Amino acid sequence: MDDINIRVQGKAGRITLARPKALNALTYQMCLDIEAALDAWRDDAAVAHVVIDAEGDKAFCAGGDIAELYEKGRAGNFDYCRKFWADEYRLNAKIFSYPKPVVSFMQGYTMGGGVGVGCHGTHRIVGESSKIAMPECGIGLIPDVGGSLMLALAPGRTGEYLGTTGYRMNAPDAVFAGFADLQIPQDQWGELIAALENGADTDLLTEAAITAQTAPLEAMQVQISQFFAGERLDDILSVLRQSRSTFAEDSLKQLSRKSPLSLAATVEAIHRLRGPSLTIAKALDLEYRFTSRAMEQGDLLEGIRATIIDKDHAPNWQYSDQRVPPIAVSKMLMPLGKNALKLEENGMRQTKVGFIGLGNMGAPMAANLARAGMQVVGFDTAETRAEGVTNAETAAKAATDADIVITMLPNGAILRSVADEVIPAMKPGALLLDCSTVDVESARAVAEIAETKGLSFVDAPVSGGIGGAAAGTLTFMAGGSEAGFAIAKPLFDIMGQKAVHCGEAGAGQAAKICNNMILGATMIATCEAFALADKLGLDRARMFDVVSTSSGYSWSMNAYCPAPGIGPQSPADNDYTPGFAAELMLKDLGLSQQAAQSVDADTPMGALAQTLYQTFVEEEDGRGKDFSAILPRFEKRGRD
Ligand code: NAD
Repeated sequence: MDDINIRVQGKAGRITLARPKALNALTYQMCLDIEAALDAWRDDAAVAHVVIDAEGDKAFCAGGDIAELYEKGRAGNFDYCRKFWADEYRLNAKIFSYPKPVVSFMQGYTMGGGVGVGCHGTHRIVGESSKIAMPECGIGLIPDVGGSLMLALAPGRTGEYLGTTGYRMNAPDAVFAGFADLQIPQDQWGELIAALENGADTDLLTEAAITAQTAPLEAMQVQISQFFAGERLDDILSVLRQSRSTFAEDSLKQLSRKSPLSLAATVEAIHRLRGPSLTIAKALDLEYRFTSRAMEQGDLLEGIRATIIDKDHAPNWQYSDQRVPPIAVSKMLMPLGKNALKLEENGMRQTKVGFIGLGNMGAPMAANLARAGMQVVGFDTAETRAEGVTNAETAAKAATDADIVITMLPNGAILRSVADEVIPAMKPGALLLDCSTVDVESARAVAEIAETKGLSFVDAPVSGGIGGAAAGTLTFMAGGSEAGFAIAKPLFDIMGQKAVHCGEAGAGQAAKICNNMILGATMIATCEAFALADKLGLDRARMFDVVSTSSGYSWSMNAYCPAPGIGPQSPADNDYTPGFAAELMLKDLGLSQQAAQSVDADTPMGALAQTLYQTFVEEEDGRGKDFSAILPRFEKRGRD
């Protein structure tokens, strides 16, 4: 929790945003940490109030960490982004309706995600340096994190003005527009926080507040009402265009930088929300309709690209002529049906997971579960750690009380010994989920022991490698009962993008080793074909061009080409640093031959592949290299 400092100090639950170099931009993990703290303090009689502040003088919080979202969105992982927003919005609603006073001290910039943390409490404090804004339309979003509620409630047409232009409010403006409650000189904040920690009542904040001077926004009310009262964006733009006033020119300049689709949807959303039935839940629900579509159908990826990735500030918006058809807005704000925002308690939060084996694969998988809000207790003999995961002293301790125990271990023998230790410690009805690649016999043996002890067992080896484990895009091939698979499914959805229920216990391992036997054989075939092509004088790029679209194509050729500089990026382009190590391929080929032997299956290609990888790893220089590094081996050899 380096980015945030959460503790109880005297009578105050204290939250300090601690990323001053990044203007305290809110990461997913920070949202989850704040929510967990609020949950813990709700019924804790020792905590009288919550005080939120931030390090540095430039910003309380300049927004959400959109670089992280951009990466996920570019990789097509829209579900990750939707989940981030859903979890963030749940936090915003929690702050809004928290049963204890929530005090926030907002110096410098408070924008976007920062508004969601700082502007929903009971005592929202601003000072001389405060600059509060909702600039989301500039990146292709609409004002969110519950900000649309304040915009809909702001005097006159102030909401439309703030939400579309992204105007930066100073302290009196923020109080006027309803984004803050009290202006207090910043040199008094330290003392006030100390007093709150010592148990002082929050009334002392009201006593310390100064009467704000007239807000510039208040002085602009006539113009704001004149220009921003239109029913739609079109109406607002046409009135602004008819005027030569500086206010109109400045406003048009601001609007010209924003996504037209976002602007039109912002105006529509504020109008729909304004009225006596407005609640934070309604505001967040409507915002979420837009944000959950913003990457795929809106301008969000383009907006982030132009603003913080390429920084060319020349976004290629949809509807760049600012004529947004009403149907386009309706489509972005349509109800989401079963995918609608759910603000009730996250069911996942209740799930306790024990995670044994925090290696290259296990650590990022466990971190993804923790990030999704699960309580994850880990154990690894090498004492490795994973982000958001608490380590236990033994595997049995990590398994005690867990609803699901996941193992991600090197081989079947280790799985069996770990299972012997954890099964007696697991609570009745819990699930043992083995994601390691092991022999079918070990999987079935552990399943039998688990089931006799009243536990469920699912074997669910993965494909997708370390990259897939980190990105949450693994494929799981699962064996075990329907009921066990159903319990594991929500975890598969977090750690991966696909899970196939292959049959009874051991079927997952069977699918995995069959797949990898094909992979080993096709990689060898691809590499020997490249070596032959070289000797025949055939250019590698031409060879790729032909084979990748002819009957010789395969994943090894098309997606993971072993020849450096050919095809999409692969370990060959990184000096064969492993994505999937040759030793792991050898292990999987060994498992397939062991299985073939046990059921009397004829697998000559698999057997030969195993022999070649064994020579490569044990006698040549294959150890520690990617399994595609077998190409240079073929290049060096002749027929004997
Ligand atoms: P790894 O060696 O990085 O991780 C295994 C971890 O298990 C290590 O940290 C080790 O200390 C720990 N461990 C060993 N014995 C233990 C015990 N008794 N108790 C607790 N922890 C113990 O391996 P990895 O790459 O994470 O692979 C894990 C599994 O996933 C393997 O079965 C592998 O075949 C499979 N797999 C790996 C990849 C990949 O690309 N790395 C891809 C698919 C599947």
